[in-house]
Amino acid sequence: MNKKAENSQHYKEELRLLQIELVKLQRHIIQRGDKILILLEGRDGAGKDGSIKRITEHLSPRETRVVALPKPSDREQTEWYFQRYIAHLPAAAEFVLFNRSWYNRAGVERVMGFCTEKQLEEFFQEVGELEGMLMRSGIHLRKFYLDITRKEQKARLAAREDDPLKQWKTSPIDQQAVKHWKDYSKARNEMFARSHGTLCPWTIVRADDKKVARLQIIKEILLRLDYDGKDVELVSPDRNVIFDYDPSYLE
Ligand code: ADP
Ligand code: AMP
Repeated sequence: MNKKAENSQHYKEELRLLQIELVKLQRHIIQRGDKILILLEGRDGAGKDGSIKRITEHLSPRETRVVALPKPSDREQTEWYFQRYIAHLPAAAEFVLFNRSWYNRAGVERVMGFCTEKQLEEFFQEVGELEGMLMRSGIHLRKFYLDITRKEQKARLAAREDDPLKQWKTSPIDQQAVKHWKDYSKARNEMFARSHGTLCPWTIVRADDKKVARLQIIKEILLRLDYDGKDVELVSPDRNVIFDYDPSYLE
């Protein structure tokens, strides 16, 4: 077998074992009535959809929900910023994944000018408090930021345009993503700096290799949540790829 085929085989085998662990985790969540909320953030093309797909692939559809909200409607624009997300929070036994989240305010909305400076400030003042309330209410909250390099983003967004199966992913916002690379970097850095002190830390994933990133995200979820029969050895993340944010990351 050549190297590429071997890697691919290894990926498939490890993914399968991790998905079996996810099934064990979900059984535990359902039995105990736990509430899980995973936020996935990252630039366009970072691999959020693909990661979510592998996480949810073999989970129970009834207790698993993926939330990817469209841009806010005129009515939603008038609401308290977090209001539209609240409706999608997990109830007991639910495993909910947010594909992008309220952190849109600190990212796309800021960079593209969809919010005012004042709204952004309010967001930073409120977000830690909100997440604290959610966690104190018993929700297990985790936040992932998938980080890719400029070169990788360019390649992925270009490949997307030619792929008939990925047409649904292309949007005018993507076309701005590469152009605004530096603005997004600045926004990301400030988002980390101003929200890492909250109760819920950011977990950063180096996501230039999407298969590696997917496996590591699943491992991190499994590591951080409690369930019976955990395969502790399998579930140990590679700290060169996935780690909690620390201000030294930006140096
Ligand atoms: P994706 O999440 O698939 O990358 P897009 O690249 O089209 O989707 O958009 C990125 C994010 O920007 C989405 O979460 C979308 O809801 C948000 N967004 C787009 N337009 C606006 C807008 N006018 N105001 C606020 N948010 C917006
Ligand atoms: P930037 O977005 O250019 O400010 O990136 C900040 C730092 O993180 C730089 O040193 C990048 O090289 C590094 N970085 C960001 N994403 C990745 C990744 N997926 N793999 C490796 N290094 C990364």
